[in-house]
Amino acid sequence: MATPAPASPHVLFTAVRRADGSTGDLLVSGGRIAAHDPAELPGGCVTVHAAGALALPSPVDAHIHPDKSTWGGPWLSREPAATLRDLIDGDVRARAAITAPVEERAGALMDRAVAHGTRAMRAHVDVAPVHGLAGVRGVRAAADARRDLLDVQIVAFPQLGLLSEPGTAELMEQALSEGADVVGGLDPVGIDGDLHGQLDFVFGLAARTGAPLDIHLHDGGPEGIRQVTEIARRTLAAGMGGRVTLGHAFAVAELAGAELDAVARLLAEAGVSLVTCALGADPVLDPARLAPHGVRLGVGSDGVRDAWTPFGDGDMIARAHLLAYRTDARTDAGLAACYEAVAQEGAALLGLPASRLETGDPADFVLVDAGSVAEAVVDRPVPSLVVRGGRIIARDGRLLRRG
Ligand SMILES: [Zn+2]
Repeated sequence: MATPAPASPHVLFTAVRRADGSTGDLLVSGGRIAAHDPAELPGGCVTVHAAGALALPSPVDAHIHPDKSTWGGPWLSREPAATLRDLIDGDVRARAAITAPVEERAGALMDRAVAHGTRAMRAHVDVAPVHGLAGVRGVRAAADARRDLLDVQIVAFPQLGLLSEPGTAELMEQALSEGADVVGGLDPVGIDGDLHGQLDFVFGLAARTGAPLDIHLHDGGPEGIRQVTEIARRTLAAGMGGRVTLGHAFAVAELAGAELDAVARLLAEAGVSLVTCALGADPVLDPARLAPHGVRLGVGSDGVRDAWTPFGDGDMIARAHLLAYRTDARTDAGLAACYEAVAQEGAALLGLPASRLETGDPADFVLVDAGSVAEAVVDRPVPSLVVRGGRIIARDGRLLRRG
């Protein structure tokens, strides 16, 4: 049986390994990091022995689809798919056959993510006439029931197309007034065949609601870069720097050398962030190539055990491993940069306070069996403890009983 979390607002974690390799004590008070190696302890302080486990800032999942997931349910067999449209159509058919409600499936995936350390997620949730707002409502209900465990942002995501799917634009408006936090978009050219039409709508809705914008962009090659360039131009013109994100951005990931440097400079200047999911054979954005230009790069799971993919598990330490593997990270610095993208870049992308385990930071961290961040990225340990706001919420991959 899981050990109950300490009820005291003051917890001293002893023998905690830090990123620099040193070991010391960490005092948490009122949900924040209060001191390293404190000389005095507050009254009623509870002690938790970390036994040399490494403390890592809790990871963030910057791109996930909980409404599509079958997590916690029976195995789903996938149909063959040759194109993006095949995947979209197969998803609609599969979803019609799944009987478990969105709230149950999304909640099971959130529990799994939290138990493996995730402190926050940005959930892209389908908004389309065939689904109505059932996804947004189900994911919101699952998130509300777990508001003490993680932060969830919901993106109203036009998975079937926006202008090309009549009725979707009206549902997007409604979603933003009924629980969605972020305006989504999808391949303005590849799916809608109307670059300016889709961008007029999503930038307009973002301006009217004050919501950030997060666009899936699978379109590759020069056509993809034309869309990236136009989105950067509009971001600057609208004064939305820091509030616009491109998911996948395969067109950017395909670039190298001077071409990549030029696009990276453009994105950094405009304040357009990127998210990569390090998926299968798809092009992957490399933190080592983007960070020097100041481009914010978050990392996400994308689909987890849904009609699109049998893979994924909501574990963002494992996702840092995939990013490192796909980008051929070898040095300790390169491996640590992949975790930096997962934890710090993700938090910044979602507008959350940084958790770097420094005094005053939110006490959101995990303890893992590893000697260094680089080793953790390679070994993918399950956190022995997950701490949120100073409270232990999971142990050895399992949520603790909630009171
Ligand atoms: Zn996605």
